[in-house]
Amino acid sequence: MFDPHDPLGIDDLLTDEDRAIRDTVRAWAADRVLPHVADWYERGEIPGIRELARELGSLGALGMQLTGYGCAGSSAVQYGLACLEVEAVDSGIRSLVSVQGSLAMYAIHRFGSEEQKLRWLPGMAAGEIIGCFGLTEPDHGSDPAGMRTYAKRDAGGDWVLTGRKMWITNGSVAGVAIVWARTDEGIRGFVVPTDRPGFSAPEIRHKWSLRASVTSELVLDEVRLPADAVLPEVTGLRGPLSCLSHARYGIVWGAMGAARTCFETALAYARSREQFGRPIAGFQLTQAKLADMAVELHKGILLAHHLGRRMDAGRLRPEQVSFGKLNNVREAIEICRTARTILGANGISLEYPVMRHATNLESVLTYEGTVEMHQLVLGKALTGVDAFR
Ligand SMILES: Cc1cc2nc3c(=O)[nH]c(=O)nc-3n(C[C@H](O)[C@H](O)[C@H](O)COP(=O)(O)OP(=O)(O)OC[C@H]3O[C@@H](n4cnc5c(N)ncnc54)[C@H](O)[C@@H]3O)c2cc1C
Repeated sequence: MFDPHDPLGIDDLLTDEDRAIRDTVRAWAADRVLPHVADWYERGEIPGIRELARELGSLGALGMQLTGYGCAGSSAVQYGLACLEVEAVDSGIRSLVSVQGSLAMYAIHRFGSEEQKLRWLPGMAAGEIIGCFGLTEPDHGSDPAGMRTYAKRDAGGDWVLTGRKMWITNGSVAGVAIVWARTDEGIRGFVVPTDRPGFSAPEIRHKWSLRASVTSELVLDEVRLPADAVLPEVTGLRGPLSCLSHARYGIVWGAMGAARTCFETALAYARSREQFGRPIAGFQLTQAKLADMAVELHKGILLAHHLGRRMDAGRLRPEQVSFGKLNNVREAIEICRTARTILGANGISLEYPVMRHATNLESVLTYEGTVEMHQLVLGKALTGVDAFR
């Protein structure tokens, strides 16, 4: 039988364990986030963010794909399903999950010393310690190679960090920050406990997107760190870029969650809203919109599955992640905007989730590499010519 919620039968691709994880995360998000998120969004704050982090930790959703140190060791497909279900409720909460697991924890897990892993990962996996990831600076976003934040070694071997990071998710609530800085040996990553003297993280207010998410500036004013605060296993931009590739993979799935909610909302609305004496779902123009939305939604989910399987097989390339992020976020935002038109005036109201998702996706379109950056990554891979500069 044709299922309007799964027209391609993608559910058949899942194992019982995949479905159990998906359903658990879906139920948690419906219970703990959905009833409150419009209010958080309107107020521009998440009052219980630390409690939410702990609950996500007990679900095994933080650093989900990592192994050992209290992490769940789930598959890439399972991590993706969790991202989709969380983002189906709000991109801001998925951002918390992505930054914690795919950026901050992943950096320590992949490039950290054994001491750093033992010190930080179990608490982060449990959601007791929130992490952030500082790469972007006020004057260096798409081109992080030009970063100015500088770490200098003093005579005793300590590092002294000075600089500013901008637009940092979780910054003001983080207990630990992964900060990327220029050094005499190239770009290095530092594990910075946020209670160090000289560290502050003022929150960025007045956002019109990702309002149910903490975004901050990081100010590093001669923050002194011991010699072993550096991530020992990587030098150069390869470090942050491989973390970003991991997080982008989660976004490929997550964006489809936001799109799914908008599609489902528009479908239900079109069936019940009557104009000219009949449901608007009966008009050909509305059906064309719904059909196109469904095609892009389920193509995007299928693409996410394909990339997840490649990741689980150890065969996912960064260009393929760019392919997925470029397509899925761009299509998701289009689906949300089309859903908004189907809802008419109600489309702009916070009573419905559509405008909230659409404005959230404006951030998702920009962070973790803008549309243009992913076009350039793919353009370079296709032509062999680097057009970045
Ligand atoms: C809500 C939110 C949360 C974020 N969280 C984090 C975080 O946790 N950690 C972190 O480090 N960063 C974070 N960011 C920052 C994000 O990664 C950057 O905003 C992003 O990389 C783009 O940088 P920028 O804003 O400086 O734009 P710019 O790099 O200044 O780009 C501006 C425009 O120019 C285009 N452009 C730039 N170079 C080229 C080129 N060569 N060719 C064609 N077009 C080009 C871009 O595509 C874009 O359209 C966050 C951003 C937001 C909005």
